[in-house]
Amino acid sequence: MGGVKALRAFQKLTGSPAPEVFHTNEGHAGFLGVERIQEMMAAAEPLSWDEALAAGRASTVFTTHTPVPAGIDRFEVSQIQHFFDAGLAPDVPVAKILDLGRENYTDGNPFVFNMAVMGLRLAQRANGVAKLHGVVSRGMFSALWPGFDHSEVPITSVTNGVHVPTWVDPRVSALARDQFGADAEEPGRWDLAYNVSDEDVWALRRELRVSLVEDVRRRLRAAWKKRGAADAELAWTDSVLDPDILTIGFARRVPTYKRLTLMLREPERLKALLLHKTHPIQLVIAGKSHPADDAGKKMIQDLVRFTDDPAVRHRIAFLPNYDIAMARTLFPGCDVWLNNPLRPLEACGTSGMKAALNGSLNLSVLDGWWDEMYDGENGWAIPTANNGASPRNATTSRLPRCTSCWRRRWPRASTA
Ligand SMILES: *Cc1c(COP(=O)(O)O)cnc(C)c1O
Repeated sequence: MGGVKALRAFQKLTGSPAPEVFHTNEGHAGFLGVERIQEMMAAAEPLSWDEALAAGRASTVFTTHTPVPAGIDRFEVSQIQHFFDAGLAPDVPVAKILDLGRENYTDGNPFVFNMAVMGLRLAQRANGVAKLHGVVSRGMFSALWPGFDHSEVPITSVTNGVHVPTWVDPRVSALARDQFGADAEEPGRWDLAYNVSDEDVWALRRELRVSLVEDVRRRLRAAWKKRGAADAELAWTDSVLDPDILTIGFARRVPTYKRLTLMLREPERLKALLLHKTHPIQLVIAGKSHPADDAGKKMIQDLVRFTDDPAVRHRIAFLPNYDIAMARTLFPGCDVWLNNPLRPLEACGTSGMKAALNGSLNLSVLDGWWDEMYDGENGWAIPTANNGASPRNATTSRLPRCTSCWRRRWPRASTA
């Protein structure tokens, strides 16, 4: 609500035109829809509730981001009522506002105010963040459209992306410019990549790997010093990782569904892979846990215990405090990017895209973006039990079409 007010003040100050479409990214910003209804109901020529709701919906898009119900903001209805009774939106009937978020449907809790449900009721267009996540979201919110098949629930998908100039290593861009000249700037000319010799690609890959190895050694030393180690005890960190060994990366902000420690399920097998006589691998794992997330913290402890073992610590490194600065060295420096979430809980995932932009191969569960981008040649799919979601390469929803204009019809979410 404050955001809309700030926007209006900005428009007044600068004379900029009013926005035509509002986008609510998940439920957190949902009350902006109520603020806009308040504006319309308090205007010189005031609209009724029904008119204001319809006008607001016609210019609002809602994006749902999480297939984990625990990730959705839910409050007690009485708590929301407390604030609106105090006059936050004085021209809007409080009962109508409360009904927007009420879980008054099969298997809902009518005493709960659900921000995602409000978001869907306030927006005429709604989407998930990958094709598979669209399928999952249509199932998850189907109770809002009673009588519709899951496939006809009007939630589509727009797959997330990453900002390419930020995530392509400058040395990769430089190689492209050297080899392709002006054509490097042409979209759709990735076929030119096949003209680059294997030697040039491999020399570049090695250079990126060397940068990662140096960065890992520096960070590891800093982390051990923070844990109280003296310089004299840290000589071993100079030989952590080897720029000529296949490097696998994995990074998580450690929600449990990402299964950071799945690789520790068979520790002896992992050790054998790391220490293989002729074809060893090395692993770089970056992580960060939320202070309130005990399961996440426990995972990190388990992993740190494994990586502390002098028998393997030159082949596996855990880096705490995963952040963007670390990520920009990590993605280009890995040959293979590993992702093993519990399908279908990774709504999209973007880490693997950043790795792919720099020539790394993905090794991932067919979840989120990888479910639609894996083509059998660009990496590997990890088989996984199908946790109740539809098969891979799920299609977008087939909304019923208007018989006269052939446009898709977008049925309203029920409020009753
Ligand atoms: C890309 C990135 C993320 C998000 O990764 P997902 O795969 O989308 O979960 C989180 N933190 C940092 C530092 C990143 O660079």
